[in-house]
Amino acid sequence: MEIFKKLRGMRDILPEEIERWKKIENVFIEVSELFGFKEIRIPILENKYLFERGIGSNTDVVMKEMYEFKDKKGREIALRPEATASVVRAYIENQIYNKEKITRFYYYGPMFRYDRPQKGRYRQFYQFGIEILGGKHPFFDGESVQILDIAFKRLNIENFIFLINSLGCKNCKGKYIEEIKKYFLANINVLCEECKIRTEKNPLRVLDCKNNSCRAILNKIPSILDFLCIECKVHFENFVNFLERFDINYKINPKLVRGLDYYTKTVFEVVPEKEDIAIAGGGRYDNLVKEIGGPDIPAVGFAVGIDRIVPLIKEKENKNNEIIYFISLGERAKIKGFEIMKKLVEERIKVEMDYEDRSLKEYLKIANKTGKRWCIILGDNEIDRGIIILKDMKEGFQEEIKEEEMIEKIKERIK
Ligand code: AMP
Repeated sequence: MEIFKKLRGMRDILPEEIERWKKIENVFIEVSELFGFKEIRIPILENKYLFERGIGSNTDVVMKEMYEFKDKKGREIALRPEATASVVRAYIENQIYNKEKITRFYYYGPMFRYDRPQKGRYRQFYQFGIEILGGKHPFFDGESVQILDIAFKRLNIENFIFLINSLGCKNCKGKYIEEIKKYFLANINVLCEECKIRTEKNPLRVLDCKNNSCRAILNKIPSILDFLCIECKVHFENFVNFLERFDINYKINPKLVRGLDYYTKTVFEVVPEKEDIAIAGGGRYDNLVKEIGGPDIPAVGFAVGIDRIVPLIKEKENKNNEIIYFISLGERAKIKGFEIMKKLVEERIKVEMDYEDRSLKEYLKIANKTGKRWCIILGDNEIDRGIIILKDMKEGFQEEIKEEEMIEKIKERIK
């Protein structure tokens, strides 16, 4: 018979790993909520053209990596490759800008990109992200970075750096693109086939190319920071001053452009110092709301790749030691045991029972193997005497507890 395997680039996240995932998710949710963010949940499926318009039709994400299909009515659908375009779509569709000046959203969930799978790169991956809509002040950019910095430090991830840059507004970006187009045309023979096309269609994307010969000529490329207008320059300076003032570890990288077309002014990426794979990325996107049909509203945000944070969290938590293993010996004990188990659950005490008939020895072996600290043992003898036995597997100690004192005593022991 065929044995089904997961699709390439997809992963099963098993319970022993889930605790680390939840810890990371909770830290990001908590820190964002402390800064006044509210959760938004957007659909996984969207109109494909939302991403074409939002992210850019000449980006790798849209051209090569999008999971697309036609639904039964022939509508062109895509699995979201990222969430910013969807959040902005929801912001416009629900006219949130009429309700408040500044909107702070966070989201969490799976994203899909048909990329070549490798370490830290999956086809289904999870992003936590924030979006601040409505503010153009550089402190909004600073706040985004600050949230990441606080969250990473709370997770005991210490050695990381923010790579930062500015892409300027439409004008500065436009002038820069003209300039690098000339530069690439002068070096066209060195560029890979794809970058020859990029030079025509979207020269900024050449800066993301991983090809060695393309990278070699990037060393002498003009810096975008020399093309910023006064307003964009001041914005960037204020952003940098914010990072200085709040002790954020950063480095300016004038070649950082990020793979999505919607960025303007500030862009940033977080990279652990010993690795060259980004764990988070973000920036300002002042034209996106207008671009996809809304009013002229500036915005900034980031997305963290949770799959890439999990391996950086060292400790493995064993949640099994919090679950009481209920051993009921015989049919009578199963009924009485279930009654007690229900009471424990009502008191929010975690407990599990295996209803198969096994010997006490075998049950204890299982408890040991699965890392349980506490067992309750109940047989005919205990029922007749109105007691249960609570066994501490770690200290190798057990005691008899009267049924009516059970809840109180168990709570005391396991806390
Ligand atoms: P982006 O949406 O491209 O700006 O990426 C933001 C963050 O999401 C990156 O810094 C990564 O941490 C994470 N990320 C992006 N693509 C993938 C992927 N294919 N697999 C795992 N994580 C990813």
